[in-house]
Amino acid sequence: MVLPHEPEFQQAYNELVHALEDSTLFTQHPQYKKVIPVVSIPERIIQFRVAWENDNGEIEVNNGFRVQFNSNLGPYKGGLRFHPTVNLSILKFLGFEQIFKNALTGLSMGGGKGGSDFNPKGRSDAEIRRFCVAFMRQLARYIGADTDVPAGDIGVGGREIGFLFGAYKQMQNNFSGILTGKGLTWGGSLIRPEATGYGLVYYVEKMIEKASNGKESFKGKRVAISGSGNVAQFAALKVIELGGTVVSLSDSKGAIISQTGITVEQIAEIADAKIKHKSLEQIVEQSVKAFSGANSVEYLAGVRPWTKVGQVDVALPSATQNEVSGEEAKVLVEAGVKFVAEGSNMGSTKDAIDVFEAARPTGVWYAPGKAANCGGVAVSGLEMAQNSQRVQWTSEEVDTKLKTIMTECFEACYETAVKYAASKDAHALPSLLKGANIAGFIKVADA
Ligand code: GLU
Repeated sequence: MVLPHEPEFQQAYNELVHALEDSTLFTQHPQYKKVIPVVSIPERIIQFRVAWENDNGEIEVNNGFRVQFNSNLGPYKGGLRFHPTVNLSILKFLGFEQIFKNALTGLSMGGGKGGSDFNPKGRSDAEIRRFCVAFMRQLARYIGADTDVPAGDIGVGGREIGFLFGAYKQMQNNFSGILTGKGLTWGGSLIRPEATGYGLVYYVEKMIEKASNGKESFKGKRVAISGSGNVAQFAALKVIELGGTVVSLSDSKGAIISQTGITVEQIAEIADAKIKHKSLEQIVEQSVKAFSGANSVEYLAGVRPWTKVGQVDVALPSATQNEVSGEEAKVLVEAGVKFVAEGSNMGSTKDAIDVFEAARPTGVWYAPGKAANCGGVAVSGLEMAQNSQRVQWTSEEVDTKLKTIMTECFEACYETAVKYAASKDAHALPSLLKGANIAGFIKVADA
């Protein structure tokens, strides 16, 4: 059920329901229809006040939330987002997406999401720590290794998880896997920071392989990426490793474009400066050595990369929701994009998805975030498994498992689309949008 003033949740809900209704699922199995209202209301929403002290000794107050959306497949699992735009519509959309995304990983995880309208930008380490402690003071009683396991999302990285975990441990006198994305020396998993970006690229590798009958790969492909956080950085590094050229990255203020390719050194420079909350503009200006000469990049203020990159083969929206408009999608398609896959959650607007889906018969292939970016939460699931066993797997072990999960997720989306949403045009690629939504839904509905 969608309550008034929940545009983002409405959008996520409509995407699922349209995908299901525009397939043969309900004609073949009418009983599934009854599940829609059941999965569309969160099992529980916790809303709380976070009162904390800033560096001037003043009290500040924020809203805190945890949406425990669905536990059919396992403990609620999903990140915490700290961003001034956070509200219940956004957290319900993210929690809803998470249910089906987590199902697509093949692991035992339910769906949830939480966060706060706290803005970490410009705050000192001490302020962030005090905020995290105050946030956990409210949340601690509602989570647990077999109940609800939060992780990071926008504004919540390794540092914040550390502060939150420390606060939980002291309050509950309990060292257990109640959060994922932990540091390596205190229960974290290797490859967790890389997982969403790497997983995204592994998923697209399968798309490229399938569409070209195994003839093509990332080698020689021009790839536009938006965002410059954790997901975008590791997606870019993996693309470069596989022989592709990354022509863009961005933040909320602008984009950097490089026709010859953003380099590994530049990405390292961005990663370092981002921890200090520097904008791309400041990074390009201040790190003169890394961004000049043969490796100079163009910084464009106030724009997203999509209409500025020229011809690209692959587009990976990896910043935030609704970051590709219908107009931008048209420009990308005209510029020859063949593969679009979301590192962000609901990165494309409804109009953009319509443009990509309409271009499917001409060889354009779109993968929604709930499938393409499930690698992050998948490795969170692997972190939970390691915590339960009190072991730590090697990078190779985790990376191999991640690759297998992404391959199986891609195949499930592909096969499900062929089974329930076969294209009228026999030559058109099957819709991964429908495949992902139907495959995730069936698993939750059966449970
Ligand atoms: N926030 C990430 C996502 O959107 C990761 C969630 C998790 O690891 O629990 O999937």
